[in-house]
Amino acid sequence: MSGGCYRPPDMAGPKHPSTRITFLGGLGEIGRNCAAIEVGGRILVLDVGLMFPGPEMPGVDLVLPQLSWLRERADLIDGVILTHGHEDHTGGLAYLLRELGDALPPRKGRSGHGRLPVYGSELTLAMASGRLEEAQVIDRAEMTPVGDGERRRVGPIECTFVPVTHSVPHGFAVAMHTPAGTVLHSGDFKLDPTPVDGRLTDMATLKALGDDGIALFLSDSTNADEPGATPSEMTVGDSMATLFREYAGKRIIAACFSSHLHRVQQIATAALDAGRTIAFLGRSMGRNVDLGRRMGILHLPADRVVDIEEVHRVDPGDLCIICTGSQGEPLSALALMAAHESRFVEVGPDDVVIISAHAIPGNEANVNRVINAFFRAGAEVVHPGVAPVHVSGHGCRDELRTVMEAVRPNALVPVHGEFRHLVSHARLGSEVGIRSAQVCEDGDAVVLTPGGVTVERAAAPSGYLFVHGMVGDVGEGVLRDRRALAEEGVVVVFVTVDAHTGEIVTGPEIVTRGWVYAPEAEDVLVEAEEAVRKSIGEAAAEGAVDYETLRRHARLALRDVIRERTRRRPIVIPVVLEV
Ligand SMILES: [Zn+2]
Ligand SMILES: [Zn+2]
Repeated sequence: MSGGCYRPPDMAGPKHPSTRITFLGGLGEIGRNCAAIEVGGRILVLDVGLMFPGPEMPGVDLVLPQLSWLRERADLIDGVILTHGHEDHTGGLAYLLRELGDALPPRKGRSGHGRLPVYGSELTLAMASGRLEEAQVIDRAEMTPVGDGERRRVGPIECTFVPVTHSVPHGFAVAMHTPAGTVLHSGDFKLDPTPVDGRLTDMATLKALGDDGIALFLSDSTNADEPGATPSEMTVGDSMATLFREYAGKRIIAACFSSHLHRVQQIATAALDAGRTIAFLGRSMGRNVDLGRRMGILHLPADRVVDIEEVHRVDPGDLCIICTGSQGEPLSALALMAAHESRFVEVGPDDVVIISAHAIPGNEANVNRVINAFFRAGAEVVHPGVAPVHVSGHGCRDELRTVMEAVRPNALVPVHGEFRHLVSHARLGSEVGIRSAQVCEDGDAVVLTPGGVTVERAAAPSGYLFVHGMVGDVGEGVLRDRRALAEEGVVVVFVTVDAHTGEIVTGPEIVTRGWVYAPEAEDVLVEAEEAVRKSIGEAAAEGAVDYETLRRHARLALRDVIRERTRRRPIVIPVVLEV
């Protein structure tokens, strides 16, 4: 082991076994789920997700957990478990593998650089592999599929993988049997009584785990505010059948998440039953449909599926196009159609567009733009606001209660939610009689001993890691600048001074971008130039001729005039040249 690395506190002796869980993301936001489970000085990582940026993060591509915390402990990490294939659980893995780089110690008896064992269902691992291949880090991962109900040792921890229903097939809850007690993580789940593939959430195993004793339950809080239970995915199939009858003779274009293979199947089944031919559109749709067919999850007769390039051969009234873009993402298949920029589909009055997904918070504006554009083209649009064409993949309060009553944990820490969801879920936990229901946030750690659970606040960095293009972290300062640029614009003052005397040679000259454009601004600029000239003159008179001092004088003088006269705070940049 290399020097200078983090060493875990000495709390792992056999007399006082303890398990420490550090939350690196997902507690306080929906996205970038990631937790580190430490037992006996070794670490198991549970999910490495990403979050899509909000409008307050201009130019940011992705948001990740603070992976530096894991990098500092690279030689302690025994593996990663992916609970299911969604990007808020798997999308950060490529970045983690790159971050760990050569710090991954070679596995025993193997040569070359180390590979990090990654565990999950076969489908989950196949979905996650796409991103690892794109990022060319697939050779740093040792993909290790696990089956439903399987019990397997991952590093120092014996784990049980429990099937759960969700909006992507083959997800798991994970029970981690540690010397300090069993920790159960729910994964993302709902209790669908009639799942499309018949693979139910395994309540019998959850109950049996409860009988053996669950010390700590980490449970999905997404719908902790919602009363009742989430309807079965099957209900969407019924709605689809109705819509396909209602809109017989029209071309139907249906958008959904490509990873939601059961939704894809139900749309396809409704289309096939209505005698239609199916085409798929969108890069990830193509990839996931191929995967689903190969793995026997999607069932489509080959003679009823046509390549998108060939759809002109099919009568539009006999066609159903299943595509990506349910979130209105600007470059998605659906958004390109809405903008009349699709190479394959021109939408008009003979079309019906079904959006089979809810807009994730932050995407509402994009979805609205797409809906408006389709109506403008004369098409009919069906979305969850007007017909039951979507159900959530997350359980509501009744389901959360049912699971808590089955596993009867000593302690509950709600995960996977905004702060309000975590609070609702913790209150529900107290209602059902859980002794300790604690709200934790990103960066907090929970220490489990045979005596119970304690929370350490802010034990790890919790800030967002912003990814922009190939650059790892653009930082909060950059984002502050971007927001200021977007809202206030920029004002630059150029001035050339004599390097010996500090006297102004040329300027000051002011250039603005994205700032007020009005005749009155002319006066402000003249006044600002005068203020800069005066301020530099005063500094020079006092003998200050160094570049930094003059620059500061120029900036403050300019800023003060602009604030005073316009009540605005544009970015102010002084450019002082010495000759
Ligand atoms: Zn999920
Ligand atoms: Zn999730």
